[in-house]
Amino acid sequence: MSIFSKMLLFRKVGGRHYSAAAQSQLREILGTQLAGIKEAGTFKAERIITSSQSTQITVQGSDKKILNFCANNYLGLANNPEIVEHSQKLLEQYGAGLSSVRFICGTQDIHKELEKKIAQFHGREDTILYASCFDANAGIFEAILTPEDAVFSDELNHASIIDGIRLCKAKKQRYKHRDLKDLEDQLKASDARLKLIATDGVFSMDGNIAPLARIVDLAKKYNALVFVDECHATGFFGATGRGTEEYDNVMGEVDIINSTLGKALGGASGGYTTGPAELISFLRQKSRPYLFSNTLPPAVVGVGLKVMDMLLQSSELTQRVQSNTQRFRLAMTKAGFTIAGENHPICPVMLGDARLASKFADEMLTRGIYVIGFSYPVVPQGKARIRVQISAAHTEAEIDRAIDAFIEVGRSLKVIQ
Ligand code: PLP
Repeated sequence: MSIFSKMLLFRKVGGRHYSAAAQSQLREILGTQLAGIKEAGTFKAERIITSSQSTQITVQGSDKKILNFCANNYLGLANNPEIVEHSQKLLEQYGAGLSSVRFICGTQDIHKELEKKIAQFHGREDTILYASCFDANAGIFEAILTPEDAVFSDELNHASIIDGIRLCKAKKQRYKHRDLKDLEDQLKASDARLKLIATDGVFSMDGNIAPLARIVDLAKKYNALVFVDECHATGFFGATGRGTEEYDNVMGEVDIINSTLGKALGGASGGYTTGPAELISFLRQKSRPYLFSNTLPPAVVGVGLKVMDMLLQSSELTQRVQSNTQRFRLAMTKAGFTIAGENHPICPVMLGDARLASKFADEMLTRGIYVIGFSYPVVPQGKARIRVQISAAHTEAEIDRAIDAFIEVGRSLKVIQ
């Protein structure tokens, strides 16, 4: 080892501490915590997929195809050949990336085109793209809210909304999950300048839906704005896939929509805010994840553009995922399982115990069905579950195969009779 690398490795601080010692301390602290997570049965191991994302995939260590029921690939577009072809075309035409944020030299005509198409899809004035919806959520509250304002957030909102709100200086108020009385009491008592209600449209752990029409009514009554995260709704929920506001018959009445390109809309990555022109223009000036992070690469923009064209033309896939969902929910409930949520392709099969959920998922895999057990801290203690996600691309025969496997494993583990 050269003197130079020794100096780097054993950098002396105050004549006593060495980075090697600090690192071994870190390993020890984290190692103990990791052992605790494993002991509790809540360690999340990652299975390694060796194929493209689809309803049938292969995982490392096996050549056998397995049926996939745990992707957010609601419309089955993640490996759609037309989308891949368009993405390749833009990769060739526009290059791998822009090496820049948007405002320096990172905006191409295709970014503007995608923003326009997303706004058209949602019936909004304009859209701003981000690298992810996590970024869109991290960047909105801090940009628009001041200490004079207040944000009212559902207690079970997605982590990215929680983090985004933490960053802002507005008064932070949490209301009980989907509890309109609690929300109204808090709105009534507030004398904030801007009041912003923030909710997930669909809560992804439970597959349940925000009571949006009644939230919109409260917003009108108390002069508040409504922000909805539509990551688990855009493209496939509501009669034509316009999301929770369509499902709850309040199309166009939500003020701000944030959503993702990383789930139903092709499954690549990217997020956005869509809403009033002044808001979008202001976010381009002030929103930190937009200002200080690289622009979306052309191949990813290509995915979004093709998906938007498809969805603007037809809602056939939306209808298919909805009928597949009904088939699964009905048969599983009839078999004796408790399925949380309402009418949504997120179908949480409630099991309670974390170890049981993990064992159940392993047993399903031996039968060729890929599902994942969710446990604390992703869901509350004692509410472990297997979250099944239905896609438009599943055939009825594939859904029936999953149901049969659930019944077989459910009986063997004494979850059902
Ligand atoms: N909001 C919700 C409700 C989500 O489920 C997710 C993804 O898990 C996000 C935001 C973040 O989306 P993205 O993957 O685009 O960062």
